[in-house]
Amino acid sequence: MSWEMVAGVEVHVELATKTKVFCGCANAFGAEPNTFICPVCTGMPGALPTLNRQVVEYALRAGLALGCDIAPQTAFDRKNYFYPDLPKAYQISQLSLPICQNGSLEIETKQGTKQIRIRQIHIEEDTGKLMHHPTQPYTLVDFNRCGVPLLEIVSQPDISDADEAIAYLENLREILLFLGVSDCKMQEGSLRVDLNVSVRRQGSKEPSVPTELKNINSFQAVGRAIRWEAARQIQVLEAGGKIQRETRRWDDANNRGIVLRSKEEAEQYRYMPEPDLPVLVIDHGWIERVQRELPELPREKRIRYQKEMGISHQQACTLTGSPQMAALFEQTAALCRNPREAAHLIAGEVARLCTETATRPEDLKVDAEKLAALADMIDSGRINRTVGKEVAERIFRLNVDPETYVAEHGLAMVSDPNVVEAAVRRVLREQTKSVADYRNGKERAFGYLVGQVMKSLKGKGDPALVHRVLHQLLDG
Ligand code: ZN
Ligand code: MN
Repeated sequence: MSWEMVAGVEVHVELATKTKVFCGCANAFGAEPNTFICPVCTGMPGALPTLNRQVVEYALRAGLALGCDIAPQTAFDRKNYFYPDLPKAYQISQLSLPICQNGSLEIETKQGTKQIRIRQIHIEEDTGKLMHHPTQPYTLVDFNRCGVPLLEIVSQPDISDADEAIAYLENLREILLFLGVSDCKMQEGSLRVDLNVSVRRQGSKEPSVPTELKNINSFQAVGRAIRWEAARQIQVLEAGGKIQRETRRWDDANNRGIVLRSKEEAEQYRYMPEPDLPVLVIDHGWIERVQRELPELPREKRIRYQKEMGISHQQACTLTGSPQMAALFEQTAALCRNPREAAHLIAGEVARLCTETATRPEDLKVDAEKLAALADMIDSGRINRTVGKEVAERIFRLNVDPETYVAEHGLAMVSDPNVVEAAVRRVLREQTKSVADYRNGKERAFGYLVGQVMKSLKGKGDPALVHRVLHQLLDG
């Protein structure tokens, strides 16, 4: 009998606010240890928290974009546990009245679109960081991260395989990026993923006891971890064993989950209402304003690019690869005559150059006006696409002016029929073997001859004209 996976995902995402959630310390990554700290975030006795309004604003943004109900009243709770990187010995979180509930996220699966329900989104604070000395028997602690605002986004157990888990995470990350609430960098820990995995026999309503997997460092590792854990549970159950409620740490290098501890029940944290923070009332006007100001989301952008601008699905996906890429495209498209030409340049050349030069989205600095001028030169036939690519690369790397560059390098398209014909005749005289091949039915020889003509025109020939003349002289 076959088995199916029943999995849920918990995502912790650090919010990109200027300051921490309950104090005025800077919220920044990579500073000297213990330089952005104060009595509040280091848990000094008597220090009182003050809620950062921007955190609530970002939580509302995420909640509304994910179709959640917003609680008219939300409250904070203390989650008590002792850990060296948690100086208060409790974390301020939300248990009884989380700020957002009952949302959903649509993903594409092999069987079509699927809704993954979101149980809740709540606000909490991050912990500090332990730094275990590599050779000496001691550990240092950096409290800079203490009090960095987090959203914990908890899905329902609606995920049935590894691909769905990855699709859910990719969509979620994309939405959070376009909302501007987090930089979602897994490598810097600003997006962290925990998995809850169980299995059940096909058709059964009763899944196994879920286990938790932590410490997963990439979306690909999520796929490996979730597959491994489901397979492990099936093996245990088929051998007549029982699944223990436990938390495992994912060891990606060795492709296995290592037991950390038997999992805590909520009661073990002795949650209690946070006495130092009042209940927060979120009035209707606030929710409506955030809803009204929600930016266009990547999925909506893709649909609009395809419908209104005639851009292919694949290019639309590349153009929404990051908020910066989408912004560059929209600025360029607005400045040039044909948005499809802008799409070719950006989804083609700019995206390729970003990969080649390992340019991060936040470092993408390409002049939209220059790209738009280039798009118009290609669209009007002043230069051909091959030359266009070369100029795009010069704009990307050296910020050249396309008009000047084309003029100085004599790159204008050669559309004079006499010049093209002379080049074709020259090539046909020289390439006797390819001509014979073509006439004997080798279609591929034609492409080679086109290439030779283009080469003799220094890459600047009008491609349509070159094709036409070549056909006339070969076939005629
Ligand atoms: Zn502080
Ligand atoms: Mn949490």
